[in-house]
Amino acid sequence: MSTAARNDIDWGNLGFGYIKTDYRYVCRYKDGKWDEGGLESDATITLSECACVFQYSQSVFEGLKAYRTEDGRIVCFRPDLNAKRMADSATRLEMPPFPEEKFIEAVKMVVKANEAFVPPYGSGATLYLRPFMIGTNPVIGVKPAEEFEFRIFVTPVGPYFKGGAKPIVVKISDFDRAAPHGTGNIKAGLNYAMSLYPIVKAHEEGFAENMYLDPQTRTKVEETGGANIIFITKEGNLVTPKSDSILPSITRRSICYVAENYLGMKVEHREVFFSEVPGFEECGLCGTAAVISPVGRIYDHGNIINFPAGMEEMGPVTKKLYDTLTGIQMGRIEAPEGWIVEIDK
Ligand SMILES: *Cc1c(COP(=O)(O)O)cnc(C)c1O
Repeated sequence: MSTAARNDIDWGNLGFGYIKTDYRYVCRYKDGKWDEGGLESDATITLSECACVFQYSQSVFEGLKAYRTEDGRIVCFRPDLNAKRMADSATRLEMPPFPEEKFIEAVKMVVKANEAFVPPYGSGATLYLRPFMIGTNPVIGVKPAEEFEFRIFVTPVGPYFKGGAKPIVVKISDFDRAAPHGTGNIKAGLNYAMSLYPIVKAHEEGFAENMYLDPQTRTKVEETGGANIIFITKEGNLVTPKSDSILPSITRRSICYVAENYLGMKVEHREVFFSEVPGFEECGLCGTAAVISPVGRIYDHGNIINFPAGMEEMGPVTKKLYDTLTGIQMGRIEAPEGWIVEIDK
């Protein structure tokens, strides 16, 4: 049985912010190999001012959650896919991939050590895990670092939607997120640095997110700054945009599986032209943080697309997908083999 959640934290009212917890996992790479790795209590990092991460942004990251299930277990959702994706991201930025088995061990170790910070079942809050890797030695001529640090810290985060998931309004961005053959398909800090200006502008204009189109033709839907997009057709099919510059969301891939195998829906993973969008019934953004946020309206330079479900609630098909996937995550619905990884085992 796991240790209970701390009783000095107001779990229901946590936001999505950083709270320092007791332990973080740290593993260092030097002379061509990873060291043993283990838990540390220091939440700060001291590095040379010339470390590669500071000068040339050699940095990749992941995001996943641990939570308590109805029957009191502490689990993670598909951490093997985070391990794999982080290795792919690292390879693209000339960093040594962190061994995938070791990644899972590190996840278990750091959650176990911070067990009291895993929010209680039913609070809606979860423990967010942030694995990341940076180039640490001084580099001034442009080249990859030779020394790296892999870390996972954890922070409890509140329920993404307080008082239900209200549909949001997104805008078609005039900026581009990721070039063809660029780095859009990896989880790297650099993709977020350049998205800050557009998201601040979008927020100032009253929009929740930017929806990016493909930079080459500006005719196809890509994704938002930090979430993939799903659409539901009039026939009740699930459509998700396919492009080499979209980040392969684990939530989106899980939703596709659930749609096909639990709900008997037809799934189309293909190029999606923006001109088709007004014909869709429902739209949502998907990622680890919110699972699915419903989109009620898209604003495109004065043209407005309103989805039939309106601005009050999630569309019915999106809701079914959301309930099924969160039911699987929370242990209320039987999960496909290997999706739920117990921390104690
Ligand atoms: C992390 C991320 C997502 C969501 O991926 P999940 O694995 O579902 O959390 C989507 N788009 C971008 C650009 C991301 O960085």
